[in-house]
Amino acid sequence: MAFISRRVASLPAYLFSEFARKKKELQDKGHDIIDLGIGAPDLAPPVFIRERLIEELQHPENHRYSPYSGCKEFKEAVASFYERHYQVELDPEKEVLALIGSKEGIAHVMQAVIDPGEKVIVPDPGYPVYAKGIHLAGGKAVCLPLDSRRGYIPCFDRIAPGDAERSKLMLLNYPGNPTAATVEYDIFKQAITYAEKHDLAVVNDAAYDLVTFGDYQAPSILQVPGSKERAVEFGSLSKSFSMAGWRIGYAVGNREIIEGLSTLKSNMDTSQFLPIQKAAAEALNGGLESVEENNRMYERRMETMHAGLQEIGIKAEKPRGTLFLWAEVPEGCGSQAFADMLLEEIGVLVTPGSAFGKEGEGYFRIALTVPVERLNEVIRRWKKLGTGGD
Ligand SMILES: *Cc1c(COP(=O)(O)O)cnc(C)c1O
Repeated sequence: MAFISRRVASLPAYLFSEFARKKKELQDKGHDIIDLGIGAPDLAPPVFIRERLIEELQHPENHRYSPYSGCKEFKEAVASFYERHYQVELDPEKEVLALIGSKEGIAHVMQAVIDPGEKVIVPDPGYPVYAKGIHLAGGKAVCLPLDSRRGYIPCFDRIAPGDAERSKLMLLNYPGNPTAATVEYDIFKQAITYAEKHDLAVVNDAAYDLVTFGDYQAPSILQVPGSKERAVEFGSLSKSFSMAGWRIGYAVGNREIIEGLSTLKSNMDTSQFLPIQKAAAEALNGGLESVEENNRMYERRMETMHAGLQEIGIKAEKPRGTLFLWAEVPEGCGSQAFADMLLEEIGVLVTPGSAFGKEGEGYFRIALTVPVERLNEVIRRWKKLGTGGD
């Protein structure tokens, strides 16, 4: 690896690519693999969004570079969505930044906020991009303990005092991946109070903000008074509007962090294609009927799979949102070995909890991204196998 930097060479291989290889190998042998691994919607975006994209493609001026921080229409749509949905006021010019998908923004915000050697408090288990983004920025991830018996709420009082003093940033992710954890407003209030005490910046990754079930509505961390002094929230259209491949998301909140991230990005990219930004604005400005319809479908899938797991004897909490079920592996089995066994024995791909950090060991994640019929097929195969497959 003579030509590769230590930073990149020391990145572990991306876990999902190894699964993709195993999946393909089994498919080539003629096996019918059901993929509950990667958490991307299996649906198409609503027609009104696709139509707006087609329309915008016809205008020559839309094929030029976008303003670095995103076009006015998109940033205003984000601000207006926050006003309507969360009663949070945002200045579209200074407190909103367009992203080429929120993953990019989350990885880059580390470089915008921390210097090499500085610490970042991150949830474990958590979305792998947090730890990798910190690593690439030369920082050090320290664990935000989550209470697995109380719906994976953060335990601020269990953060080591030395870690808190030496950290600059704290990350949260509610509604959460991989645990499907959801919180009420008071948790965000506690987070801001804690961050004020230790002078931390705060990021909430809200990729699943609109993917919720029943009466539950996910709060925004920016609803906490004073939060804009130190917090930013990352949003995405990938999950709520099934636009994962479009690559469009946003960061909102603290001006200094938004400006820093914008400056960093303006030296690396030139924002997203204008027709995509304008169609995304259309999505945010439109009603949320399509989102609600999809949520009801994800909820039915979740209920089906949850009932199936119960019959099989696998423990999992019923979530109030996200595309996931977070379940316990049977006693005496490692997560990776259990996931390998499911793939080899019944052709079902799930993600081992250990892929999301050391606290994920003992669990696995099911993505509810296949139709109910396929979930029923998963349950049928699993029952034949027996409980833990041992
Ligand atoms: C999917 C996901 C993202 C990234 O979404 P983008 O497609 O990059 O906008 C960010 N955070 C979490 C927790 C996710 O699951």
